[in-house]
Amino acid sequence: MNTSDEPRTVVIIGAGPAGLTAAIYASRAHLQPLVIRGPKPGGQLITTNTVENYPGFAQGILGPELMAHFEAQAERFGTELRYGSITKVNFTRRPFQLVIDDQQRLLADAVIIATGASPRWLGLDSEQRLLGRGVSSCATCDGAFFKGLPVAVIGGGDAAMENALCLTRFSNRVHVIHRRDRLRASKVMQKMAFNHKKISFIWNASVKDILGDKAVEAVVLSRAETDEYACLPVSGVFIAIGHRPNTAIFRPWLRMNKEGYIFTRPYSTYTSVAGVFACGDAQDSVYRQAVTAAGTGCMAAIDAERWLQKEGLIG
Ligand code: NDP
Repeated sequence: MNTSDEPRTVVIIGAGPAGLTAAIYASRAHLQPLVIRGPKPGGQLITTNTVENYPGFAQGILGPELMAHFEAQAERFGTELRYGSITKVNFTRRPFQLVIDDQQRLLADAVIIATGASPRWLGLDSEQRLLGRGVSSCATCDGAFFKGLPVAVIGGGDAAMENALCLTRFSNRVHVIHRRDRLRASKVMQKMAFNHKKISFIWNASVKDILGDKAVEAVVLSRAETDEYACLPVSGVFIAIGHRPNTAIFRPWLRMNKEGYIFTRPYSTYTSVAGVFACGDAQDSVYRQAVTAAGTGCMAAIDAERWLQKEGLIG
C-alpha cells in the first residue's frame, strides 16, 4: 500500500453540499483541504431535478448545476478534489489514518466527515432482483425509460412527491403508494402532486412483493386495515422511503445512534473523537436539507480551524 508521509491539514470525506461548503471555508482559511469525492460526487442533489428552496436562486436551479457551482467555488480557493472513496479509517492515533480505495494510505491532522446518506430500500428480495429492471430510487435518472407506461412511487415524503412529479413527464399514470392516510411531504409539494391529473394516491397500503421475471410487471399491495391483497400492474417502481447515513466505516471509532447518525456535540460539529468533525446528512436526522447541510459544512470548517489552532497544528 502506498502512503503519503506528510499529513494533510484537513481531509474532507464527501463532496455534497456539506463537504464542499466545508472545503470553501477551509480553503479560504488557507488550510489547503483535500476532498475525497466518494462514490457519488455532488451527493443527493446530483439526482435532483430543480432545486427551488436553495436560497439565492429565485427561479430555482438544477441540482447538478448547483453542485458544479459548489465545486468551482471550492477549487477557486485552492481545494484539491480527488476521485475515490475512503474505505478504511483509524482514528486511534494522530495524525489520523485514512485509506483510499483500499490502496493508498493518507494521513490527516483533522478529518471532516460529510459522507451524506443513501436511499433506503423496502428489503424485498424481488426489489434487489429487479433493481435496474424497473426498480429504481431515482426518477430523474430512470424516468425516461417509462414513456407511456404506468409506474408506482412508494413513500409519502418530499422525495416521493418529487419523483412522482418528475415521472408525469414520461409515464401515463403515476400511482403514489403510501403506508398511511396522510403525506409527510411539505404542503407545497403535496399541493402540486394532488393537483396533477396523472398522479393518483393509494392510501394505507404497503408493497408486499414486486412481480416480474426479466422486468417489473406489477406490485402486490396489502391494505393496512383489511389484510386484503391486490395486484397493481406497473412497469416501474420508484422507492422513495427515506435515506440511511453513509457512516458504516466510522462505526468502530465514533459514537453514533442506532440508525448510524454520527453524534455531534450540541451546536457544533465535534464528534466523540477530538479532531474528527461531522456535518450534513451523516449527522443530521432532523433537517436533512441542502441548505442545512451546507450550514453544518461551514461550521465543521470553522470548528476544525479553531481546533487545529488550539492544538498548535497551524500557525
Ligand atoms: P422522509 O423521511 O421525509 O419520508 C419518507 C417517507 O417514506 C415517509 O412518508 C415514510 O412514511 C415512508 N416510509 C419510510 N419507511 C417506509 C417503509 N418501510 N415502507 C413504506 N413507506 C416507508 O424522506 P424523504 O427522502 O422524502 O425526504 C428526506 C428529507 O429531504 C426531508 O427533510 C425532505 O424535506 C427533504 N427533501 C426535500 C425536497 C425538496 O424540497 N425539493 C426533495 C426531496 C427531499 P411515514 O410518513 O409513514 O413515516
